[in-house]
Amino acid sequence: MDDMVSPGGILPHAAERFGDKVALVTAARTLSFRELDAASDRVAAALAARGVRPGRPVSLYAQNRWEWVVAYHGALKAGAVVNPVNVMLTPEELAFVLRDCAAAAVFTSAEQAAGVVALTRDVPGLGLVVAFGEPPEGAVGFADLLAADGPVPQVAPDPAAPSTIGYTSGTTGHPKGAIQSHRAVLLNCALTATMHGRTSADVVVTALPAPHVYGNVVINGTFLVGGTVVLMERFAPAEALRLIGEHAATMFEGVPAMYAAMLAEPALETAELSSLTRCTVGGQTIPLSTIRGWQERSGAPLIELWGMTELAGLGTTHALHAPPVPGSIGVALPGVEVRVADLADVRRDAPRGEPGELMVRGPIVMLGYHGNPQATAETIEPDGWLHTGDIATMTDTGHVFVVDRRKDMIITGGYNVYPAEIERVLAAHPAVAMVAAGPVPDSVKGELACAYVVLAAGATATEEELIAFAGRSLAAYKRPRLVRFVDDLPKTSTGKIMRRELIKQYTP
Ligand code: ATP
Ligand code: MG
Repeated sequence: MDDMVSPGGILPHAAERFGDKVALVTAARTLSFRELDAASDRVAAALAARGVRPGRPVSLYAQNRWEWVVAYHGALKAGAVVNPVNVMLTPEELAFVLRDCAAAAVFTSAEQAAGVVALTRDVPGLGLVVAFGEPPEGAVGFADLLAADGPVPQVAPDPAAPSTIGYTSGTTGHPKGAIQSHRAVLLNCALTATMHGRTSADVVVTALPAPHVYGNVVINGTFLVGGTVVLMERFAPAEALRLIGEHAATMFEGVPAMYAAMLAEPALETAELSSLTRCTVGGQTIPLSTIRGWQERSGAPLIELWGMTELAGLGTTHALHAPPVPGSIGVALPGVEVRVADLADVRRDAPRGEPGELMVRGPIVMLGYHGNPQATAETIEPDGWLHTGDIATMTDTGHVFVVDRRKDMIITGGYNVYPAEIERVLAAHPAVAMVAAGPVPDSVKGELACAYVVLAAGATATEEELIAFAGRSLAAYKRPRLVRFVDDLPKTSTGKIMRRELIKQYTP
């Protein structure tokens, strides 16, 4: 692969430039760039030898682990279209995805492999189940693939062709498969690395799921410049803090709930965070109190970013040394256009500073939703503008502020209330560890806003007290009318709070 036109070119490039430098650290193994590149070459050779032809989808269904990263790059080198599957999908949903995208092979954990073999017998064309670990009957061990000899297939990818079919988080319903081009994925990794000033001196600790676009741009954007990724299998606050100290990490990257959990973690008091030079956060609205809390404790700026699966990564963020604009998700990535459209007429811009739908256009926009031309047509305008489904405002300097998701708006007595506003205000109360807001039906006002609150360890607060607290910063119609105290908030595999799920759980 001479010209790097696909994310499959990242490891060959990094192996040549950075060789024996550590690329990836997981609990099980540490690999250099050369080792990662060589292992993914073997996987590519084995896939080709087993008849996986270029252009065929190869699915990955497992938690974060080094084998996942190797399989991702191996499949790309074989010319396959990588289909990273959200680990939270149920076996039936997985079967649907495999059938729907006509997967030729699937990589999964040894624990899940038997189940995958059983449910994929009726997936036509699926000839290969690979298990990370001891393979059950009907599956092949990942170690066998690594031992394969034979030539690495020589593929010359078309930058505009599908590279990956990535699934959305499923925060608002069923996950949708976004077809992302080679150009979109590689460009997003490169642009994100540029904006955040990533270099080979960086050591990044993250628990973001590898199948998710935020995880992908962090992992591959770091590899691209020769930095090291310390990848957690799943997030745990005390362990994350420990890894930052142990590896003298320069960056931690994660969703807001991870920062909230680390700030509430008793081990924070003794954690060694002085090596951090900046951190990134995105995926969901982050309360300013969390940003301030983390910046104060770590001494490093917390850079906000906003992205979507449909953009193969980020759409906006702040450049590393740009003056901070607190609460803003930043400006468009270079070469990407953003605008705020009038809610009633998408062809017009909303007046400056007024909320409208955030629209994005440029080379990072997906090719479409897999197997869903109708949803694709509803999401991408004929002139290329992508509907993000997010309500936002924009300043004269191009800084974007996300208000909330269009779908999550609460309509109470005819007024539009965005749950994110309520969440931001309540999160600043010292007794509140985590909060989500949503509608409850009301016979008079249609809907009322309800706040679901997880109290900080040892803290107490009453419903009246929190409503009064919110009332100090929110107009009367925006105030939550109800507060429910809960033990935890339901989250997606990406770590995002699922407001809908919460509402379902608590509304009879
Ligand atoms: P689904 O589309 O299946 O409901 P999802 O939208 O959560 O799930 P993703 O593609 O992972 O799936 O997330 C993109 C969305 O995440 C954006 O459209 C936006 O609503 C939200 N988001 C991302 N970053 C931010 C941010 N910094 N602030 C607020 N919201 C954000
Ligand atoms: Mg979405």
